[in-house]
Amino acid sequence: SRLKKGLTKTREGFVAQVENLFSKFSTIDDELYEELEEILIQADVGVHTTMKLVDNLRDKAKEEKIKEPKELTKLFQDQLTEILTKGTKEEDDDQPTILMVVGVNGAGKTTTIGKIAQRTKEAGMEVLLGAGDTFRAAAIDQLKVWSSRVGVDIIAHQEGSDAAAVAYDAVQAAKSREVDLLIVDTAGRLHTQSNLMEELKKVKRVIKREADNMAVEVLLVLDATTGQNAISQAKLFNDAVDVDGIALTKLDGTAKGGVVVAIKEELGIPIKLIGVGESAEDLQDFEPESFIEALFE
Ligand code: GDP
Repeated sequence: SRLKKGLTKTREGFVAQVENLFSKFSTIDDELYEELEEILIQADVGVHTTMKLVDNLRDKAKEEKIKEPKELTKLFQDQLTEILTKGTKEEDDDQPTILMVVGVNGAGKTTTIGKIAQRTKEAGMEVLLGAGDTFRAAAIDQLKVWSSRVGVDIIAHQEGSDAAAVAYDAVQAAKSREVDLLIVDTAGRLHTQSNLMEELKKVKRVIKREADNMAVEVLLVLDATTGQNAISQAKLFNDAVDVDGIALTKLDGTAKGGVVVAIKEELGIPIKLIGVGESAEDLQDFEPESFIEALFE
C-alpha cells in the first residue's frame, strides 16, 4: 500500500531495530529494556513517553507471564495503538467548517491545504480558500495555483495587507455562498515569532467572531523530519491558538516515525492527517490501527 511504502524508512529504521532487539535477546532482562529505551529516544519518541512505554511494557510482560522476548513485539504494538487511539472521538462531518491552517514555512502547509481542498471537492463538497499568508507574495501565488488546479475559488488580498481582513472577507464569502469548507492559510515566518503568534490570535478571533453556524477548527501542519523540534513548535502554536488537530507531513522522509507517538502522548492533540509522499494520495487520514499495522506488517 501507499502507506506502507511511505513508511519504508521508519520500518527499516526504528521498527526493524525494535524487532531485532526482541529477537536478539534470549531472556527478558533489564538490559533489553535499557536498549529499548535507547532505540525509542533515538526514534524521537521523547524521553517522557519512552519511560512510560517501557514501564508499561515491563508491567504487562510480568502480568502476562511472558518469557520469550519475541512475544514482546505484540505487546509493544498494542501499547503504541493504545496511546494513539485513546481519547479520539467521532466527528460531525456535516457541519460547514472553517479550517484555519497554521505551521512554520516549509512544513507543508500549502501542499496540505491543496490536497484537502482537492479531496473535499472530489467528495462533492463546496470548498473556498482564503489566502491568509499575506507576508509572502509567493504564498498567495502558490495558493492561487492550487485554487485553479483544483477548481475552487480563492479570496486573496495583496501582499502586505492585513491577514485578519482576508480572514474576515473569506468567512463572509463562505457564509453567503454556503460552502461546506473554508480553508484559511496563515503566515508561518519563524524569525519574528511573537508578532506571528499575535497575528494568528487575531485571525482566529475574527474567524470565531464571524463564523455564525460554521464550526471552527485549527489544524497545525508539522514536518515529521524535524523530530523533537516539531514538539516544541506544537506547544508554541497550541498556546497561541488552541490546536484541534495535527497534519504530520514528510513521514516518508524520516526513519524515526516515533514522533507520532510523542505528539499524541506529550501534547494530547490528535493527529488527523499524515503525509507520506509528494502526491495528493499521499496525504491520508490518520488511522492508528492501519498505521501500526503498516509499520509492523
Ligand atoms: P509551506 O511553506 O508550509 O506552505 O510548505 P509547502 O506546502 O510549500 O511544502 C514544502 C515542501 O514540502 C514542498 O516541496 C512539498 O512538496 C513538500 N512536502 C509536503 N508534504 C510532503 C510529504 O508528506 N512528503 C514529502 N516527501 N514532501 C512533502
